[in-house]
Amino acid sequence: MTAGSSRTMQAWVVCQPGPIETSPLSYQEKPVPSPARGELLVRVLTCGVCRTDLHVSEGDLPVHREHVTPGHQVVGAVAALGDGVTDYAVGDRVGVAWLRHTDGTCAYCRRGNENLCPNSLYTGWDVDGGYAEYTTVPAAFAYRLPADVADVELAPLLCAGIIGYRALLRASLPEHGRLGLYGFGDSAHLCAQVALAQGATVHALTRGEAAQRLALELGATSARGAYDSPPEPLDSAILFAPVGDLVPVAMRALDRGGVLSVAGIHLTDIPRLNYEHELFYEKELRSVTSNTRHDGREFLALAVRYHVRATTHVYPMSQAQQALQDLKAGRFDGAAVLVNDQHTAQ
Ligand SMILES: [Zn+2]
Ligand SMILES: [Zn+2]
Repeated sequence: MTAGSSRTMQAWVVCQPGPIETSPLSYQEKPVPSPARGELLVRVLTCGVCRTDLHVSEGDLPVHREHVTPGHQVVGAVAALGDGVTDYAVGDRVGVAWLRHTDGTCAYCRRGNENLCPNSLYTGWDVDGGYAEYTTVPAAFAYRLPADVADVELAPLLCAGIIGYRALLRASLPEHGRLGLYGFGDSAHLCAQVALAQGATVHALTRGEAAQRLALELGATSARGAYDSPPEPLDSAILFAPVGDLVPVAMRALDRGGVLSVAGIHLTDIPRLNYEHELFYEKELRSVTSNTRHDGREFLALAVRYHVRATTHVYPMSQAQQALQDLKAGRFDGAAVLVNDQHTAQ
C-alpha cells in the first residue's frame, strides 16, 4: 500500500496553545502519515475527547511537538501495515491510546513499571494523534478491541477508562470497601462501574446535578458536592477533578489507613496539609502516572465482563474545538467522542 506520500486528510493541529475559548486549534489539510517500520496506519473511526487534550491545547502541558494533532482514544481500522508487522491485517479494528512507546530496557520497564519509563512517548503529545482522519501507532502499543461493543462506546475506554482503572488500582480499595470519587466525568463514571461490579460502595463528590444524577443512576450510594463530607469515612478515594484544593478535603474524608490516588496528569497546587488531620493514621497520598499496557488489556477485559458502558456525547470531527470548549465549561456529562464522517478515502 502506498499510504501517505500524496494523499491528504483533514486534521486538527494546536497552532498556538492558549485558552480554549480563543480557539487555539485549527482544522487543516495535512498529508496522510506513512506508517514507519513496526507501525500501523489507522483510519480513525472515532476519537474520544480527554481532558489531557484540553491541557495540551491550552498549554498547561507544553506541546512536545509543534502543531501536534491531539487525541489519544482512537477506535480505528488498520489501513496499512508498516514493514515488519505480522500480527495485524488491513481492516482489523484497533485501539490507539496514550502510551505510544517505551524503551523496554530501563529499570522501570524491566520491573513492570513501563508507565514510569523516562524515554516514553505519548500519542497526541509527542506524536500526532487521533483528531484526524488517519493516525499511526506502533503495533506493539495498539489494543485489540472487543467485537461486540460499538466504536463510540469503546473510545472513552481507551484513556478515561484505562487511567480510571489504574487510579483504582493505585487507590488499593479493600474488598467491599468504601470508595469516594471526587469529580464525576468521563474517567470516574467508568471507574465507578468497575468498582461497583467488584462489590464496592461508591460515593460521588462532584459539582453539577447532571453528574450527581449519573452517579446515582450507575449505582453510587450517595452523590454530594465536591467539598461536602461523604456519609461515611472512605477506605479509598480517587481525585479526578484537576483541583489541588480538593486534596486536603479528600484526605480528611479518609478513614484510618485510607489511600487517596490523584488520577490527573495536571493538578493545580495542593494547599498546605495538616499532618494530624490529613495524613496521620497512615493515610496515603499517591499520584497516578499514565498506565502500562498490562493495565490497558486488563481493563478492556474487565469492561467486557462487567458490561462497562460509557455515557457519550457525540460530535462530528469538525467540531473538536467546540467539544473541548464544552468539556472545559462542563456542558455535558460522561465522555465526548468525535466521529469522522463516512470515509471517502481508502
Ligand atoms: Zn523504560
Ligand atoms: Zn487521556
